[in-house]
Amino acid sequence: MNQLDQLSQLQTQALDELAAAQDEQALEAWRIKWLGRKGLVPAAVKRIGSLPREERAAYGKAVNQLKQAVQAAFEARKQALSEAKLEAELKAEAIDVTLPGRRPQVGRMHPISRTLRQIYEVFAYMGFQIYTARDVETDEYNFQLLNFPKGHPAREMQDTFHTTVPDVILRTHTSPGQIRVMRERHPEPIRVILPGKCYRYEQVTARAEMMFYQVEGLAVGRNITFADLKGTLHAFAEQVFGEGRKLRFRTSHFPFTEPSAEVDIDCILCGGKGCRVCKYTGWLEILGCGMVHPNVLRNGGYDPDEFTGYAFGMGPERVAMLLYGIDDIRYFYANDARVLPQL
Ligand SMILES: [Zn+2]
Repeated sequence: MNQLDQLSQLQTQALDELAAAQDEQALEAWRIKWLGRKGLVPAAVKRIGSLPREERAAYGKAVNQLKQAVQAAFEARKQALSEAKLEAELKAEAIDVTLPGRRPQVGRMHPISRTLRQIYEVFAYMGFQIYTARDVETDEYNFQLLNFPKGHPAREMQDTFHTTVPDVILRTHTSPGQIRVMRERHPEPIRVILPGKCYRYEQVTARAEMMFYQVEGLAVGRNITFADLKGTLHAFAEQVFGEGRKLRFRTSHFPFTEPSAEVDIDCILCGGKGCRVCKYTGWLEILGCGMVHPNVLRNGGYDPDEFTGYAFGMGPERVAMLLYGIDDIRYFYANDARVLPQL
């Protein structure tokens, strides 16, 4: 085989091997073998010096052509591999814009906050202001000024959280706010609601929490009667529980009102026929109320011979339980993310 045939064979081998190089690594190995400083192509070029003078021209021309052809083939292969690689990468990272997105979880108002706002709105419409009183109270405001002297049996109904400071407690009801607002506004007439958290050292059950809300109402003026109280509560019940609600007043006893009553509405679920929720009575208890006791008026700075007033108190949790059909108060404060969004 002469030199030129050998060159031709060398070129065929180089191009075959190049075609077999499938990635950058294989291509680099091929480059070192064929075009590197000690590669087969430079070696073939160098061989020109060892040839007899008369063969050099033909060999030189052929080896140059070989070198150029192999070089060009390498560049083309390199380009093709790089394009293929890019295409593969784009394919792998492709985003399918037709897939449905992931919705972020959105917060919403707590059912008790919603109920509170609904109650505020109804009373605001009737001209009541919101008065916010403190959560930490003295025994005097929480009990004594509201006609619960020390040792009064009604105190036992409200198991109390005491603090390390003598006679400083967590309020067991929102009623101490009545004394605070009266002492602040005296001798002006008053029409306020007093919402807030209350605390009782109680067994937590489906019906009772240690921390719960109350919304208290208080009106004090010169000609306020029990009829005003009834009218106000009737308007409230219709606004919150629906038109045509019936109210039932049952006599009761609270130390800070006289007379006192507990108020029922006709059952919003069965309309009074009797069902599980109303325990087959047809009635649902929603609040307690009464005319402000003369002692309490006096403690607030109002002369009971001149002024009268009414007060009422309700549990927004109870209202929300009825409105949303919940039978366990613990759902509200357990902060179970599976439960709250259902309400
Ligand atoms: Zn019922």
